[in-house]
Amino acid sequence: MNEVKEDLTVDEFLKKYFSDDKYKGLRTSVVRFAEGFDVADTSKASLLALREEWMEEENSHYRVPGGHDQLINHLEKQCKGLGGQILTSAVVGEIGWKKNDVTVITTDGKTYNGNKVIITVSLGLLQTQPGIIRFHPTIDNYFMAARKIGFGSVVKVLLQFKEAFWEEKKKNIGFLFANEPVPTWWTQLPSSYPLLTGWAGGPQAWELEKKDDETILQLGLQSLSNIFKMRGRELTQLLTASLIANWRNDPFARGAYSYSMVGSAEALKIFNTPVNSTIFFAGEAFYEGPAPGTVEAALVSGRNAAKKIMSHEQ
Ligand SMILES: Cc1cc2nc3c(=O)[nH]c(=O)nc-3n(C[C@H](O)[C@H](O)[C@H](O)COP(=O)(O)OP(=O)(O)OC[C@H]3O[C@@H](n4cnc5c(N)ncnc54)[C@H](O)[C@@H]3O)c2cc1C
Repeated sequence: MNEVKEDLTVDEFLKKYFSDDKYKGLRTSVVRFAEGFDVADTSKASLLALREEWMEEENSHYRVPGGHDQLINHLEKQCKGLGGQILTSAVVGEIGWKKNDVTVITTDGKTYNGNKVIITVSLGLLQTQPGIIRFHPTIDNYFMAARKIGFGSVVKVLLQFKEAFWEEKKKNIGFLFANEPVPTWWTQLPSSYPLLTGWAGGPQAWELEKKDDETILQLGLQSLSNIFKMRGRELTQLLTASLIANWRNDPFARGAYSYSMVGSAEALKIFNTPVNSTIFFAGEAFYEGPAPGTVEAALVSGRNAAKKIMSHEQ
């Protein structure tokens, strides 16, 4: 990988350097990882971008004890402490603007004025046609650029059971990978809380995301039934609660998180250049660094946009 100088897609890379039959297992592992973890379509994903990310990736993954909302609460407190105001359930439908003069109109007809605006909706919303937020005058080159960055899907299946039945079958199961409709599962290890999380990312989610939640739940149970060689009825009797998160269907997300395609670097340059010193973009998809698709990426990008606004105000 290190020898590659010119960008190509992951599929092109595997075909060029690892087409021999003896690399079949390696090809499958690379594609599964890029699809499952990076939610990427390997026929479009940039090898150079994934290489940068994979080289940086730490071996360990962490949970935030007490939940991720502590981060949001901290940011909220800081923002309000500095005199900021946060409006929830305010869906933006239109933005009228000229240099240093912005009017934001919500779908319930309220208007808000300012001299700058930072757009932080997900890339999925910016890729949706017709545009969910309409700009007057339009900023078509940004909407075109949005389609040059990848935005993957995730379907998550959370199943809570009466007991952690899998512990009897095998000790210390962290992750499970299988050739099933819901292919990846993890437990709450080191906690023995009886919850299993199923995950289908990228192309693995394309079929699932079209189905309704009940069908996804049944496919999740069927996947577990095959993995643990248990009857479906047995699993259903143990099930106490379930939740399906289908990110493509969420009207305020329209997908999960971004990945770089060949050519995305140009699109990022466009998004990281403000429109007439007035409209700025921030969010995980517009971050340029080794940890794309993360909360960290969103935070860094937001801070950069704020710094840019301050420099444009001088
Ligand atoms: C299933 C899944 C698992 C993940 N796991 C991890 C992980 O383990 N670690 C990690 O670091 N990252 C993870 N991520 C990625 C992380 O959640 C994102 O990178 C991060 O939340 C992106 O933040 P953002 O502010 O760019 O966008 P978002 O969090 O999408 O924020 C955009 C906001 O815009 C709002 N919005 C949308 N439309 C409108 C509108 N018209 N008007 C007003 N507001 C609107 C939305 O409601 C939302 O609040 C995961 C993501 C998913 C989907």
